[in-house]
Amino acid sequence: MTDATFSPADGSQTLVILKPDAVSRGLAGKILDRYLTKGLTLAALELRHVDQQLAAAHYAEHEGRPYYPTLIQFITSGPVVVMVLQGERAIDIVRLLNGSTDAGLAAPGTIRGDFSIFYQRNVVHASDSPATATREIGLWFPQL
Ligand code: ADP
Ligand code: MG
Repeated sequence: MTDATFSPADGSQTLVILKPDAVSRGLAGKILDRYLTKGLTLAALELRHVDQQLAAAHYAEHEGRPYYPTLIQFITSGPVVVMVLQGERAIDIVRLLNGSTDAGLAAPGTIRGDFSIFYQRNVVHASDSPATATREIGLWFPQL
């Protein structure tokens, strides 16, 4: 159950996905360790095979973009580890730990900067705002 003191609406809960590249490369433990060592805690964690419907719902705002077809192909290409992380300012903190979207140019020391050279196969997803976190947690973990 979700701790009642944390909520996506105030930025203290965020949805994080370890994308198929992270899982297939055996990086899930290393990446999870960074979030937990930072001081965030888990409200939910699950290995999940993403179907077309969930992929399309998750990435709805990107429909029509040139990279959209390969993005859907990528996120459905193998199992992901999806979780809800929590802690004061969790949304902002996780985005900072993850680094910028284009992993090839993300700063060293960030997860993307340390684990990928690609723009699209950038190992992690995280909610970018309270509204997004509310929507994404509802989509992936409706029981929370
Ligand atoms: P973020 O994941 O940092 O929030 P976006 O929401 O802008 O980034 O994009 C969602 C995902 O789509 C990115 O993580 C990346 O995998 C992919 N993506 C975004 N823009 C591009 C692009 N120009 N080329 C290739 N892939 C992209
Ligand atoms: Mg995004």
